Amino acid sequence: MVKALAKLFQAPEKNIMAEIGKTAALMTDVIDLSIGDPDLATPAPIVNAAATAMLAGKTHYTASAGDPEYLQAILDFHHQNFGSHYQMENVQATVGASHATDLAFGALLDPDDEVIIFEPYFSPYKVQVEQYHAKPVFVTCQAADNFQPQKAAIAAAITAKTKAILVNSPNNPTGAVYDQETLQAIADLAKQHDLYLIADEVYWPYVYNDHEFVPLENLAPERTLVTGSLSKVFAMTGFRIGYLLGPKEVVSAAGLLNEGVTYTAPSMAQSAGGFGLQNVTELVEPLKNEFSQRLAYLGEELNQLSWAKTIPVAGSLYLFLDISGSGMDDVEFSDYLLEQAGILVIPGQAFGTSGKGFVRIAATQEMAVLKQAVAGFKSLSFASQK
Ligand code: PLP
Repeated sequence: MVKALAKLFQAPEKNIMAEIGKTAALMTDVIDLSIGDPDLATPAPIVNAAATAMLAGKTHYTASAGDPEYLQAILDFHHQNFGSHYQMENVQATVGASHATDLAFGALLDPDDEVIIFEPYFSPYKVQVEQYHAKPVFVTCQAADNFQPQKAAIAAAITAKTKAILVNSPNNPTGAVYDQETLQAIADLAKQHDLYLIADEVYWPYVYNDHEFVPLENLAPERTLVTGSLSKVFAMTGFRIGYLLGPKEVVSAAGLLNEGVTYTAPSMAQSAGGFGLQNVTELVEPLKNEFSQRLAYLGEELNQLSWAKTIPVAGSLYLFLDISGSGMDDVEFSDYLLEQAGILVIPGQAFGTSGKGFVRIAATQEMAVLKQAVAGFKSLSFASQK
């Protein structure tokens, strides 16, 4: 019998994450730990800001670059929190980070250009690069290095065709937060080889214990493109609100592309997002504390399993669990977990071949549900445990 997840992995031309999402939507009585959507309510003041904006008439088109008030809130936020000095010519409103990444690639890439991506990686990047007839070049990060990219491996992957390095910290799916030394090494390589850096920092507030989020724009502002999003920061994924921030020559090329396709975030979403950015500390704190507790609980409990290993989660909303001790591969394991315990997780190879042997567990369910999930994990037994 072909199992539910194994079947999805037999059609590699499809977007596996999207397929798992569609499968999950059809399942009932399943503890769904596959979702990268913060389950917590969008903070009420943000919802109120959206309602107030709509009542005040923010129900029409904005300029393609975005509503000036929203753009100013982004500039102020980056200045106050990260010390950077961007101007209006450096920013473009987008429909989430997905749109920002697409615009960045669209503005930067010529056919046959190469983009270095650290693996395991957020799976849409590959298609986003390939649709511009450019090539993703994967550099594997190892659990033994806490999934920090290694300078020598990055340097070895750079060719005359390399245009950019994509840097996703805090990382989905590994939960790594790249340290200052790693990011400095990446910035140095970018300067040495005249490359752009695409900084996907959509999980920036979700950094735990003594880890620290280091904004890449501080290390190489002249070549960093931040693909910003408020989706995860304020648990407001459905607002579809983000931005692109960086060197003016790229942002203006991205702006021209955007005028062509006329995608602009809804005006009320820009108002709500701008309000959020002006009040970031108090709005984010409760969300961060909740995810911190959930991930600490999952890490502690799952590490007790003889067949599983985790590295402590430094950031993001995810725990990347090494299940190779079960004697099963990650797809086989995930199907077994689904059948035996009714728990849905994402097999690691959805994030590239080096994800084999891991599963991604999203802490996007409340603590009571996570407790049930832990009991489910503990109920598993394996014939050929390593
Ligand atoms: N980047 C990463 C690493 C993500 O995990 C996600 C969503 O899961 C996105 C970008 C997309 O974010 P947005 O909702 O802003 O398009």
